Amino acid sequence: MKSKVLLIYTGGTIGMMQDAKTGQLKPFDFKHLTEQIPELNKFEVELSAVSFSKPIDSSDMSPAVWIEMAEAVKANYTKYDGFVILHGSDTMSFTASALSFMLENLSKPVILTGSQLPIGTIRTDGKENLITAIEIAAAKEKGKPVVSEVCIYFEYQLYRGNRTHKYNAEHFQAFQSPNYPILAEAGVHLKYNRAALMKPGTKKLNVQTKLDPNIAILKMYPGISENVVDAVLKTKNLKALIIETFGAGNATTQQWFTDSLKEAISGGLVVLNVTQCNAGKVEQGKYATSAAFKKMGVIGGSDITTEAAVAKLMYVLGTAKGKKEIEKMLRSSLRGEMSI
Ligand code: ASP
Repeated sequence: MKSKVLLIYTGGTIGMMQDAKTGQLKPFDFKHLTEQIPELNKFEVELSAVSFSKPIDSSDMSPAVWIEMAEAVKANYTKYDGFVILHGSDTMSFTASALSFMLENLSKPVILTGSQLPIGTIRTDGKENLITAIEIAAAKEKGKPVVSEVCIYFEYQLYRGNRTHKYNAEHFQAFQSPNYPILAEAGVHLKYNRAALMKPGTKKLNVQTKLDPNIAILKMYPGISENVVDAVLKTKNLKALIIETFGAGNATTQQWFTDSLKEAISGGLVVLNVTQCNAGKVEQGKYATSAAFKKMGVIGGSDITTEAAVAKLMYVLGTAKGKKEIEKMLRSSLRGEMSI
């Protein structure tokens, strides 16, 4: 039996066209996409496509749109074997992370893809990305999906979505997954790294749509002033803060900094320590410059990316009952988003 795959176009370069007047790239009508790839009709897959009524450049992404995507998967979950979400690359890692948390007990593939060049252009990378993403979403073995998690497929590689980071605005290979192996590589054959794939959920899919955006990121840099830190900590309704630290989770040891953070934590703020480095992890207490964090109750984020940390905090704040549960969830790997 042919696999059924649902293509959901949310926006992004892959379906954009140049505005004749301004020369700017703008999301185009989804119909355009299938016109550009007649090969899609020849697939050994039963393909259906839907488009968001207002496709967006993914730089306009928001939790409300994540909910729309999760709801689209939920509404079609029993009718399809897999899902391909066409999405701009700019915030694709954030969306893949958010969906990985929101789609609880997922047991089918949800593959995000897009392109650096619009699908209508001669040198587009969109065609291969789309065709292979569909193949992965349709792949089954002994009647079961090969992949059962939220992934990004881009430039011949399949990644765990919540481990990725867009690192290149120019190259076709735009994503990296520095702290987790690639899930599959597309060459002459599609080779899956079976040991790295997530086990499918065993319970019914549950879509969690309560996301709390009352979070902030404070990026450390030499010379950061008390004014800046204070302004962030005094943000109205702030419930959780990501501190993007140096190296293995280090920051300035100046007294004003330690005192401000300590006060915020005793006032109920949840603080998650995420490294600015692309690879490697936070190890609070390894250096003297992170010892204070450990003492005051900052949570070490191990090797989580900032993208996954943003999505996880919104999900955890929306889901958990009380600070204890929030902290427990942050210290655990919920969807393979960090190494513990
Ligand atoms: N700005 C575009 C977006 O993220 C870039 C892309 O599609 O890759 O929507």
